Amino acid sequence: MVKMIKVLGVDIGGTDIKLGIVNQKGEVLHSGTIPTRAAQGPEAMVNDVLQWREGQRGDHPEITAAGIDCAGLLDGKRRWLYSSPNLSGWENIPLGEMFESRLGLPVTLDNDANCAAWGEYNRGAGRGTKCFVCLTLGTGVGGGVVIEGRLYRGSQGLAGEVGHQVILAGGPRCGCGSRGCLEALIGADAIIKRTRDILAEGKASVLGERDDFTVRDIASAAREGDGAAVRSLGETGEFLGIGLANIVHLFNPEVIAVGGGVAGAGDFILGPARESLRKHLMGEVLSGIPVVPAQLGNRASLVGASFLALEKIKTEG
Ligand SMILES: [Zn+2]
Repeated sequence: MVKMIKVLGVDIGGTDIKLGIVNQKGEVLHSGTIPTRAAQGPEAMVNDVLQWREGQRGDHPEITAAGIDCAGLLDGKRRWLYSSPNLSGWENIPLGEMFESRLGLPVTLDNDANCAAWGEYNRGAGRGTKCFVCLTLGTGVGGGVVIEGRLYRGSQGLAGEVGHQVILAGGPRCGCGSRGCLEALIGADAIIKRTRDILAEGKASVLGERDDFTVRDIASAAREGDGAAVRSLGETGEFLGIGLANIVHLFNPEVIAVGGGVAGAGDFILGPARESLRKHLMGEVLSGIPVVPAQLGNRASLVGASFLALEKIKTEG
């Protein structure tokens, strides 16, 4: 019998850390969440994760490696965290090394969007391709690029930041400090603002009766035929399409996948995005590249981080 290899996946989010015991096929055998508690500092977080792992020791005594991911500026090669919007005050930390010494296991550390792309490449929408790009749409807009079957990281581990390509010169201010980034135009807050602006024109809408709404609410209004919601998501899709055209021109991928919470709006965003993509391509020959929904949902990063850990074992023996 072939021995089953298991790794620990750790996806550090703003409020929760998702954890999973994952086998070599990328199947999540057991999963759980713990609160992020970023204010307690990195040592406390490493302890929390260690404690969760100890709780699984009875069912899963042998874990061979761990794959960690979180949002922010990370260098996967050095396993170094520059900064993260979810981990306020954590700057320039050798987070990979910290986990490695406490867990006593080989550890990988990478950006959540890179890991989502790597998860989708191995087990989701990118399977069977060699050149693949995956976008993650949520509060932020992240991306990961796979070139010739390898996750592309760039010189400082910061490649694939598709959310910070400038789409509209002088456009709205982005969290990164620049203006008119894709993230500033199609991040969740931007979509909500766009919808409010449309409502302010006096358009009748079910959303007009509410003080507060989310992108999920806008999507469900669109499904009921709400004109303001459909228009807002459509305009969002047009900006996304320009970003996709830039990606196609840079990488000429076989497939582009779009995931994350905002992508739950489905074809209300993706339909106009595909149309806008076609309009902005330099040649008809590029227009056949499929833009598809991601397949792994909110587990994509956890699965991708686990695959990176599995590869580390393979390459390091
Ligand atoms: Zn930006």
